[in-house]
Amino acid sequence: MLRRLLGKVEDGRFGRALAGIQAGWQWECVVRCTERVEGLVLYGDKRYRVAIEQRGARCVARCSCDDAVARGVLCKHIAFAAMAELAAAAAARSAHRPLPELG
Ligand SMILES: [Zn+2]
Repeated sequence: MLRRLLGKVEDGRFGRALAGIQAGWQWECVVRCTERVEGLVLYGDKRYRVAIEQRGARCVARCSCDDAVARGVLCKHIAFAAMAELAAAAAARSAHRPLPELG
């Protein structure tokens, strides 16, 4: 769901979300279950609420910023939240994988 959502983010916003990772944006997850992820994107004095939901075959994403509210687009905060969740899931998976024996 998150990878497919990221594929729909426009290139400029995708790039700004990547720049956000470099700039140390924080993702504070509040709700995480199979069909729903919700939390806060925090940086400087900014604070945006992002929710990503699977509704049947459709993935619906919302953010409290003007870009998402006024234009109805997938904003950089939604992209950043999706990246952060994918990174957290990948980290959890690799933590459970046994390390190879060193010779
Ligand atoms: Zn936003």
